[in-house]
Amino acid sequence: MDLKSGYPFWAVKNGLMHAFPQLDADLTCDVAVVGAGITGSLIADELAGHGHDVVVLDRRDVCWGSTSASTALLQYEIDTHATDLARRYDQATALLAYHSSLSAITEIEAVAHGVGDVDFARCESLYYASNRADHPRLADEFAWREQQGFPVRWLNRKALKDEYGLTSPAAILSAVAARVDPYRLASRLLDRMQRKGTRVFDRTQVTSITSTSRSVHLVTDSGLTVKAGHVVMASGYEAQGWLHQRVAKNFSSYAYITDPVDAAKLGWMANTLLWESARPYIYLRTTGDGRLLVGGEDDDRDIPARRDRSVERKAATLQRKVTRLLPRIDAPPAFAWAGTFAETSDGLPLFGCHPQYGARVLFALAYGGNGITYSMLGAGLLCAQIERRPHPLSRLFSFARL
Ligand SMILES: Cc1cc2nc3c(=O)[nH]c(=O)nc-3n(C[C@H](O)[C@H](O)[C@H](O)COP(=O)(O)OP(=O)(O)OC[C@H]3O[C@@H](n4cnc5c(N)ncnc54)[C@H](O)[C@@H]3O)c2cc1C
Repeated sequence: MDLKSGYPFWAVKNGLMHAFPQLDADLTCDVAVVGAGITGSLIADELAGHGHDVVVLDRRDVCWGSTSASTALLQYEIDTHATDLARRYDQATALLAYHSSLSAITEIEAVAHGVGDVDFARCESLYYASNRADHPRLADEFAWREQQGFPVRWLNRKALKDEYGLTSPAAILSAVAARVDPYRLASRLLDRMQRKGTRVFDRTQVTSITSTSRSVHLVTDSGLTVKAGHVVMASGYEAQGWLHQRVAKNFSSYAYITDPVDAAKLGWMANTLLWESARPYIYLRTTGDGRLLVGGEDDDRDIPARRDRSVERKAATLQRKVTRLLPRIDAPPAFAWAGTFAETSDGLPLFGCHPQYGARVLFALAYGGNGITYSMLGAGLLCAQIERRPHPLSRLFSFARL
């Protein structure tokens, strides 16, 4: 699967941070994690921290999949409003999804500080109404979140104009959000794990999975076998290819980043994530070195050749929208890129076993706009499942939900 187009910034900026060997002999382990992106790294780190003998395998260089294309806004606010989740399921489910995502920000912060130097920073998140018609939905969402004790503030048209210079009917300001360099975080995690004894192999593709009641046997593209007590399929959007059941829909999503912008021009954008109520939405964040990172303009089909051709045009469209929104920041794209992006119908991820493979093969499908916070939650969830402990999200994030 061709996961990305153009020049994803993190890979350009960081280069190949750590190279790992190819698998060159059969081996045995407690848990084999297939996929060394942000999801596989966080899960392997959690499992290794719990004393499991973990092996990580990736068919590419590590972190070279969707993780290198991610714009990495870390938000507890998921793409599906809590009020919509409450209508679709119930209040308790909406609360569980939102509360868990809120605590995931703190968990990622702890991991980021543990490895250090990954451009993690706490931010606020400003979610504005794209048009007047969306105002009532936003007001409902704000009321629900405020009532449930989430750290939110309502900004009406005047407050938005006075405090942010933005023209919109209203916005929800959330005090808890963050940003990170996801490629750097995952690479540094894998390097730390390897130094502590976890075996990491890149350029090693898993081509078959055979599961019994006692173990799982993986075969790689060079015919080697890995025998594991459990397998975690953290193979990103490509993981869908292992399932007969259709569990998500693929899109293409576009992004660009500017050269560093003068701090005075960035103003409040330096510590604010900005996004809107329209779907697909435009979203903006900054980096530690003062670049503006912009994403959006999603296509509802994911055709790599078309995506390759569209990168520059989509970046130009995004730039026009940014100029309308924030006229004082008129910075052109320095690097533009695009990536495959998958979403489930309710915006929630899927973690756990699937009937097609039995209890020893656990999928880690951190799909949706909050993929990274979901990966953090999935790490705790799958570790609990492997250790046969209950976890509050096991049911909600399971395939049974479909
Ligand atoms: C443009 C864009 C913007 C995004 N913005 C955000 C955002 O703002 N916030 C957020 O939280 N999320 C965001 N996401 C989503 C987030 O980036 C993803 O959830 C995350 O990167 C997925 O990580 P992953 O490790 O699951 O997948 P990947 O990074 O793709 O890693 C999976 C790995 O598995 C390997 N693999 C696949 N098949 C095999 C096999 N058979 N054998 C061995 N290895 C295999 C691949 O080579 C790959 O390295 C965005 C995504 C995109 C594309």
